[in-house]
Amino acid sequence: MSQNNLQVCPACNVKILTLPRGEDKVLFSVGPAATRAMLWARVCQYAQKPGCINKNKDAIGEIKPSDYYEPGI
Ligand SMILES: [Zn+2]
Repeated sequence: MSQNNLQVCPACNVKILTLPRGEDKVLFSVGPAATRAMLWARVCQYAQKPGCINKNKDAIGEIKPSDYYEPGI
């Protein structure tokens, strides 16, 4: 059974895993899982490449100031 839906953003090379309950987890190549808001704040807004799958404001949701960077990384 394959309930998990894994997408890779071709622009940012980041994996987005949609869990069966509809929650999205962003998997960076290193570090803990993050949210779409974090991904947008840290990568997608700078990448600005066609094909980015993390441009939907409804899916991204509210971006908090703490989403922009992670102290220590
Ligand atoms: Zn992207």
